[in-house]
Amino acid sequence: MRRLTVYDSRTRETRLFAPLHPPRVGLYVCGLTPYAPAHIGHARTFVFFDVVARALRRWGYRLFYVQNVTNLDDKVIARAAQDGVDPLTLAERNFVAYRLDMERLGVRSVNYYPFATDYLAEIVAQARTLVDAGYAYRADDGSVYYAVGKFPGYGRLSGQNPQALRPGAHVEVDPLKRAPEDFAIWKAATPGEPSWESPWGPGRPGWHIEDTAITVKLLGARYDLHGGGIDLIFPHHEAEVALSESATGESPMVGYWLHGGMLRFAGEKMSKSLGNIVALSEVIDRWGAGPVRFFFVNAQYRSPLEFDAERSLAEATEAYRRLGQPLARLDELLASRGPDAPGAEPPQGLADEASALVERLDATLAQDFDTRGAVALLFGWSRRLSELRAPLEELSGSAIARLRAPFDWARETLGLFEATAGTSSEGWSEIVGVAIAARARARARGDFAEADRVREELARAGVELEDGADGTRWRLRQGG
Ligand SMILES: [Zn+2]
Repeated sequence: MRRLTVYDSRTRETRLFAPLHPPRVGLYVCGLTPYAPAHIGHARTFVFFDVVARALRRWGYRLFYVQNVTNLDDKVIARAAQDGVDPLTLAERNFVAYRLDMERLGVRSVNYYPFATDYLAEIVAQARTLVDAGYAYRADDGSVYYAVGKFPGYGRLSGQNPQALRPGAHVEVDPLKRAPEDFAIWKAATPGEPSWESPWGPGRPGWHIEDTAITVKLLGARYDLHGGGIDLIFPHHEAEVALSESATGESPMVGYWLHGGMLRFAGEKMSKSLGNIVALSEVIDRWGAGPVRFFFVNAQYRSPLEFDAERSLAEATEAYRRLGQPLARLDELLASRGPDAPGAEPPQGLADEASALVERLDATLAQDFDTRGAVALLFGWSRRLSELRAPLEELSGSAIARLRAPFDWARETLGLFEATAGTSSEGWSEIVGVAIAARARARARGDFAEADRVREELARAGVELEDGADGTRWRLRQGG
């Protein structure tokens, strides 16, 4: 296992990574709230954690990567009401679309996507533990609130003083709460919204507790890595720490907190038509998955990143093309001549340089996942090959393969230059299976508009469906 350092948001320092039970590593990342299709900002977060997962696995860690799906919350309910659909159907629909986008981007490292509403038993059990231990209380309407004042560590992750977090005088204080900073872990049922039975009456989970119910169940009271966008530190992750540590009595819940920087939208024009321009599927349709991935891995993950709809990806496309030019040439030669082709060995020391570079790439990425540093090294190699005076045509197949090693590293670890992006058959069968099942359920209840919508969605991603007597078959359209 390679040694690596990780910047931990809780201790605010870069530390040597020491998992609790090596080689096993547990990683939890706050996933999508699918009230709407994914946007370009989501891609930044999830591409980064895909690189984290790829790297850890490459370096010998046995990673279990969980990414939850908040398939029911206020936003999902509000949007579903607006669209006149069932909230859980809306969430499933957007989740399928999200998985297709991720597959096209080469993000296929997540082991499991738990849906919040599949963990009702765990959520209710954790809320009951908290109520029994005096950390939470039932309000008059049947909601349950977590009493922030009972947890001394509150505010530590975000570096804030709990008193300073209180809403100001201008903020309306909820009369159901004992203190303004308390937050709901169980929300009393509202007519027309999905609800479940609980010891406090019918209701649905609050936001933060779905994460801790899922992590305690799947990763334990303590685990190694928790990730998400930096905007989630407060209140979401702060609340998670309070819930998990007061429910389990174990601390710290997470060894290392990894927070990705925000994507900032440049230009007035952008923000006016935000929803339309930055839909992730449209960005991938227009620019292709490679430049989108490149745009993100070419940035330091914790820094804010400016996104200009016209400029950013045009520039990324050009840089990505330049970076990959020698690779295209090497691939062509290998394809036409085969890996066993006889020929010359690389010029003095060049093959050794390539292997030394692979080591440097790993070492660079092992410094708090410095993808930008790794891309800079790859550019150096690309230039080196372009300036080579000896013609590549005369090299042996094995020599060509050795010169390609740094690019192979980029493929495996950064997910760049994946030859046929979005066609990993395993990934596709799972996602298409999810979509076909959703379509069959829609047809069974007579919702043919929804069924057609799923078909169109898949068609856009290059999947064609064929209904037959023995069910629905699918195939990938060629040349997409
Ligand atoms: Zn979360």
